[in-house]
Amino acid sequence: MDIKTYVLKRKQNLKERILKDGGTPSLVIIQVNDDFASNKYVAGKINDAREVGISAKLIKMPETTRLDELLKKIKKLNKDPHVNGIIVQLPLPKHIDENIVKEAINPAKDVDGFHPLSRFKACTPLGIINYLKDEGVEIRGKNVVIIGRSNIVGKPAAMLFLEEDGNVTVLHSKTSREDLKNYVANADIMVVAVGRKHFINDEHTLKNSAVLVDVGINRDEDGKLTGDIKPGRDVYLQTPVPGGVGLLTRLTLLENVLEAYLHGI
Ligand code: NAP
Repeated sequence: MDIKTYVLKRKQNLKERILKDGGTPSLVIIQVNDDFASNKYVAGKINDAREVGISAKLIKMPETTRLDELLKKIKKLNKDPHVNGIIVQLPLPKHIDENIVKEAINPAKDVDGFHPLSRFKACTPLGIINYLKDEGVEIRGKNVVIIGRSNIVGKPAAMLFLEEDGNVTVLHSKTSREDLKNYVANADIMVVAVGRKHFINDEHTLKNSAVLVDVGINRDEDGKLTGDIKPGRDVYLQTPVPGGVGLLTRLTLLENVLEAYLHGI
């Protein structure tokens, strides 16, 4: 099933579960800037939430906000029994240490799954795994190559594929071009999260049976979005950009909020 249809179906299911419950799960988003991309992402998250019956509130703070002011706000939300999920939109201003902020969020409300003790799995890798499993993609014993080792995608993705018994290899900027080509050529499943347009391209040989998951979001000068994998490869499955992993990430955030609401602190 293509990702758009899959996400629509799961959102419908979420909506029905929330309606049946009769209550209203609540999400609070803290944004500490007023930049174009963050405004767009946050508006998308708020619309998604409202569509399925989750109440979503935005707390917008100026770029000059001090760390202690932000932490005070988070502490208050941590204690508020009416708030089920809290997310702090990234990036944060340079003077604020992202790790301190991530760790300040109550792990039971950390629906982004960024806190080391979070009850939730990070949205992008979890969304990917759920989709592949629902599509019937076999992970056990398969060569899973993950390119990129960020804390929000590459590393948690490696853990999740390991939990599914994949043979996981994580590549990064210190991997030689030669090695990268060899690992890529043997990959049954490949997750690319590098942030470079068409990083995987015609130079790279792939298995015809490969499953390619493109996490990258790169913006061309004319505003067009492109992925990390050149489209149109002759493989079993290749996720598109846009309309691919981004939708899975957004869906998983909503599912995490419902989970936080149902299971409380
Ligand atoms: P990131 O923090 O930007 O890190 C990029 C990773 O790529 C690093 O681990 C880096 O290795 C690796 N890398 C850089 N050059 C490389 C090379 N030549 N060969 C192999 N690996 C290389 O990563 P991120 O936050 O995960 O984001 C990656 C991309 O995914 C971005 O385009 C981002 O916008 C997108 N993204 C999309 C979603 C979504 O929902 N679709 C969610 C999150 C992120 P080192 O560790 O060695 O530096």
